[in-house]
Amino acid sequence: MAETIIKIDLKQSPYENEKIHNRWHPDIPMAVTVKPGSDFIIECYDWTGGQIKNDDDASDVRDVDLSQVHFLSGPVGVEGAEPGDLLEVDILDIGTFAESLWGFNGFFSKKNGGGFLTEHFPEAQKSIWDFNGMFTKSRHVPKVEFAGLIHPGLIGCLPSKELLDEWNKREKALYDTAPESVPPLATIPYAETAHMGQLKGEERAKAAAEGARTVPPREHGGNCDIKDLSRGSKIYFPVYVKGAGLSMGDLHFSQGDGEITFCGAIEMAGWIHLRVNLIKDGVKKYGIKNPIFKPSPIAPKYDDYLIFEGISVDEKGKQHYLDVHIAYRQACLNAIEYLTKFGYSKAQAYAILGTAPVQGHISGVVDIPNACATLWLPTDIFEFDVKPNANGPTKAIDGSVQVPLAPDL
Ligand code: ZN
Repeated sequence: MAETIIKIDLKQSPYENEKIHNRWHPDIPMAVTVKPGSDFIIECYDWTGGQIKNDDDASDVRDVDLSQVHFLSGPVGVEGAEPGDLLEVDILDIGTFAESLWGFNGFFSKKNGGGFLTEHFPEAQKSIWDFNGMFTKSRHVPKVEFAGLIHPGLIGCLPSKELLDEWNKREKALYDTAPESVPPLATIPYAETAHMGQLKGEERAKAAAEGARTVPPREHGGNCDIKDLSRGSKIYFPVYVKGAGLSMGDLHFSQGDGEITFCGAIEMAGWIHLRVNLIKDGVKKYGIKNPIFKPSPIAPKYDDYLIFEGISVDEKGKQHYLDVHIAYRQACLNAIEYLTKFGYSKAQAYAILGTAPVQGHISGVVDIPNACATLWLPTDIFEFDVKPNANGPTKAIDGSVQVPLAPDL
């Protein structure tokens, strides 16, 4: 059995664990160092560090402190890694903790985080998902069960100082175009809740003030939330600092393409088993800017889908020019409306799209003025026939359970 090189205690605050950090900065010391070719296990908090509880009350989602996220395990130093190398990472396995066989999905309040459909779901809600081996179901979303395509939402290497400065500069410029925006246009550095791993003293204070937030995906990968970057994948990351400094977290039991609910997929604490290797000077050799990866040889086998189309005409009927974001939103809203005909609430339908192995595709981006996006809903995750037929939809869901809602104060 591979050695567990980073351990966590779910009863302990992640701030007390020096092998955890929640900002990106090149000065964060390596929590542990490994040799190329070795494999090892790393334990991870859920992305909020335990702020969300397994109960039927969404006030924890409403009141979550988002400046604390994401709690990442690492950085893992790799001997011999230098800027310009490619770090090859095999995700050998990912698993749950026996004492924590559950995860959560939520919608943030529009006033605290928001989300893809925040105009339609402005208040906080959450659903709890129980894990039964490789399957999951929720007491808040009846008659749906699916296999987990388990993956890290967030994984990447430490940035160089130059790259960090570039991130901060371009994101601040965007933020400054509408600083009062709720939710904000970008998450800018915030020292108060920074956790800088083993950094101490003045060095720590300086790094905390300039450390990049972990919310967006960037050139190094980071918070890409790609459901197919799952157990069994092989990823190639650009290296920017000596030792590479690989960190990860935000484990998801399952997620639909887009992570549209934002809080988030089915979020969980757990462990990840990795193997690392180096391709010297690989960034230049292969012309790599952002990470590339090979998917897993195993995946849940859902072959039958109902596919919902969306175009870049918004809810008010306004025409937009080839806007894929709006087109995907329409595809999602069309799927939600359809699922309500079987008795689901809109919130239950939204939760299904955020958690199940739903596919999102950009189908057309040239047919002016409309982009076309599609949402692929697997039919076999439902305990009833979800396809259209001449008799009309059966009321499969009686409305006796709902997704808990926490109204804004
Ligand atoms: Zn997540």
